[in-house]
Amino acid sequence: MRSIIGYFYKKSSEGYGPSALGGFAFYTCISVAIIFLSASKCTKTNAQSELSTNNTGSKMTWNDVLKICKDGNEKPDNRVEKSDAEWRNQLSAEDYRITRLKGTESPYSGEYCERHDPGLYACKCCGTLLFDSGKKFDSQSGWPSFTQAIKNNVIHYDQDNSHGMLRVEVSCNVCDAHLGHVFPDGPPPSGLRYCINSKSIKKIDHGK
Ligand SMILES: [Zn+2]
Repeated sequence: MRSIIGYFYKKSSEGYGPSALGGFAFYTCISVAIIFLSASKCTKTNAQSELSTNNTGSKMTWNDVLKICKDGNEKPDNRVEKSDAEWRNQLSAEDYRITRLKGTESPYSGEYCERHDPGLYACKCCGTLLFDSGKKFDSQSGWPSFTQAIKNNVIHYDQDNSHGMLRVEVSCNVCDAHLGHVFPDGPPPSGLRYCINSKSIKKIDHGK
């Protein structure tokens, strides 16, 4: 410690005092430290705002869903398109059946049905972030359920008249993977229930 102090200060007959060179080096170090700390603070602020955007998510209502079904979907930020053979090669047989052939897993069979720990959920096929665990709730339906997606334009909405029912199918807007359906019986404030197959999504823990 004494040698470090000695670098910045010179010994004189009057005692210790700053030398011209030592003073310059000292203030340079302080300036560098301030710049470094400012940069760290900026990085942290950006990361926090990213997280907060994720937690805020989209603000869809059932009327918005119906309007999109009628007027058309938002454009995604990017598209991932693969041949049927490529999807078959990439996915397990069951994941392929659900995501590419609009299948449905048995209720209460999915690995994410009962999980409520923090994290993000991405599309099983293309990795696009779709849902935040902060918007996941226990719907008692047997499938993972969310009240909102991370962003409006990551979900594609289509009116589905199959099985004699009028429903709205939700799929990944980037790669067309079937996810499940959205219903107007979710909790407030959105009133939406995105009913999603566990096999259509994969959980990504924060910071990983
Ligand atoms: Zn996808």
